[in-house]
Amino acid sequence: MALNDRVPPNPARPDRPRKARVPTGPALRVDPIGCQAHGLCAELLPGHVTLDEWGYPILPTGPVPPELLAAARAAVRACPTLALRIASE
Ligand code: SF4
Repeated sequence: MALNDRVPPNPARPDRPRKARVPTGPALRVDPIGCQAHGLCAELLPGHVTLDEWGYPILPTGPVPPELLAAARAAVRACPTLALRIASE
C-alpha cells in the first residue's frame, strides 16, 4: 500500500490527493566537518545512533522520540567537538 492510499482526499479538491503529513519535531543533526568520529553519541544513544565503518554517526532522519530526548540532549552536551546538535523542525 502506498502512503497516499491511506491519506483521505482533499475535500476542496477531490481530484488531488491530500499531502501526507511527515512527523516533525526535534531531530539530531551532525556537522560532518566538525565530527571526528569519537562515537560517544552512539554510546549514549544505542539503537538510535549507529556508526558507519569509519566510526561516524548514522542518524535517523525523523524526530527524536520523546522518551529519548533527555539522552539526546546529554549526547549533544557530551560531543567533544560540538558537532552534534538538536534541530527543531
Ligand atoms: S560524539 Fe560528536 S564527534 Fe563523536 S561521533 Fe558523535 S557527533 Fe561525531
